[in-house]
Amino acid sequence: MSQASADFRLHDFHGGLALDGHKAVSLEVPLASAGLPERVYVPIGQHQGEAGDLLLGPGDQVLAGQALTSSADDFEVPAHAPCSGTVVGLCERPASHPPGSRRRCIEILNDGRDEWVAPTPLKHWAECPSGKIVDHLHAMGLVGLGGAMFPTAAKLRGPWGAIHTLILNGAECEPWISCDEMLMRTRPEAVIRGGQVLAAAVAAERVIIAVEDDMDGIADALKKALAQQHGSLEMVIVEVPSVYPQGGERQLIETLTGLQVPGDGLPQDIGLLCHNVATAAAASDAVVHGRPLTERIVTVTGPGIQRPCNLRAAVGTPVAHLVAAAGGYRDGVQRLVLGGPMSGTALSSDEVVLTKGSHCVLALTDQELAPRPEPMPCINCGDCVAVCPASLMPQLLFRALAADRHEQARDLSLLECIECGCCAQVCPSQIPLVDYYRHGKARLGLKDLDQRRAALAKRRYEAREQRLAQQQADREARRRARAERLQKAGGARDEIQAAIERAKAKKRSGD
Ligand code: SF4
Ligand code: SF4
Repeated sequence: MSQASADFRLHDFHGGLALDGHKAVSLEVPLASAGLPERVYVPIGQHQGEAGDLLLGPGDQVLAGQALTSSADDFEVPAHAPCSGTVVGLCERPASHPPGSRRRCIEILNDGRDEWVAPTPLKHWAECPSGKIVDHLHAMGLVGLGGAMFPTAAKLRGPWGAIHTLILNGAECEPWISCDEMLMRTRPEAVIRGGQVLAAAVAAERVIIAVEDDMDGIADALKKALAQQHGSLEMVIVEVPSVYPQGGERQLIETLTGLQVPGDGLPQDIGLLCHNVATAAAASDAVVHGRPLTERIVTVTGPGIQRPCNLRAAVGTPVAHLVAAAGGYRDGVQRLVLGGPMSGTALSSDEVVLTKGSHCVLALTDQELAPRPEPMPCINCGDCVAVCPASLMPQLLFRALAADRHEQARDLSLLECIECGCCAQVCPSQIPLVDYYRHGKARLGLKDLDQRRAALAKRRYEAREQRLAQQQADREARRRARAERLQKAGGARDEIQAAIERAKAKKRSGD
């Protein structure tokens, strides 16, 4: 097992911004537990996929760690109870995105006993076939904890070819967010073990763990944990420059390898797979300790929070409970954001619940939210182009979307926008560019969804027609076969009758 990183050659990606981190404020406090609220609301459709089958109903008793939903489909990730108690039933809670939407949840009344199901580790996982490891991670409810919540099993199994390198993304580049740094500081061995698990799941030859160069002592903590583990897998810990958005998957890959992932492709197309460090730790918990994914570390911070900190919190905990665990609000809170200031979404209420992908609750006061001047017309200065890490033309995208020309925006690679917010940050005309991109993507997404639904309906119709035709043909074939059998049986009867007649005639002639 290797841990050299000094000779690792790094590369630059286009654009990006150097931003104030504001991370120390939440890192100087030890990691604490948010405690369990009286009621949890476990989202069941929180990942990219449907909910799966409900396993429990109103009035059922449930243990912590017990599966609430199940599915054999990699895109339908099971949800698990974070506490023991009584299932109240299905309910809808406000969701962070899109604005005004609601999320289907299972409400559980916490009985305060914290009784757990027996853990189900995957024994001898290092000798298991990769498919078995992936099945286990799926059953334990793993999704990407970096924010996107993409189902881990689907990402590991995928239809792609060989993966030679697994990248663990610990480059937590957005200001204020420090949960990954806290995780690597407190549980470096889980990150290393999780890297081994995920690498085994795709038979990767090496693992690169990327952390930012301003994360004090984190690379050393990981190296120390690595030195204490055994195995032949090549693992290297690399410090990357602290620049936003270094933690973007494509930007990190370019920094580490010099390779650019094709705009319409995935890292897997070039033999690379990226997972967040928190996903790796959750993979270790699932496989080694048999613990399903029911909690995560979340940063609760910002000038509007009394005691900014990182908390271990159960999935399904209302944001209000997290804020209370961090000492409550300060005066003058104007905006709550789920995520960071650059790419997070403003919350309409603190009734929103923590999902597996929620990494930060940020409370901003009127001081940071000086009234934004009215947007001015684009002056074509090109500042947005210079900072765009996806090498897009943000001003052209804006013009296309402002004119409702969504297909033109698609041709300008709108879907490659990672919504990092760099363009809006530097725009002298104060145009809320990312709002246009989000809205445009949602419109295109709806359109694509309609097209996919229509194609699916057409495929179902054609399959039904084919099935009915086949059933008709089968019935016809069976009818013909029966008729032939009867005909043959009729011929045999004739032959028997003839033989009987011959025998009778012979007998008579003998008499
Ligand atoms: S930064 Fe703003 S004003 Fe300048 S080109 Fe981009 S959109 Fe236009
Ligand atoms: S938000 Fe999109 S368009 Fe703007 S800088 Fe980031 S990637 Fe480029």
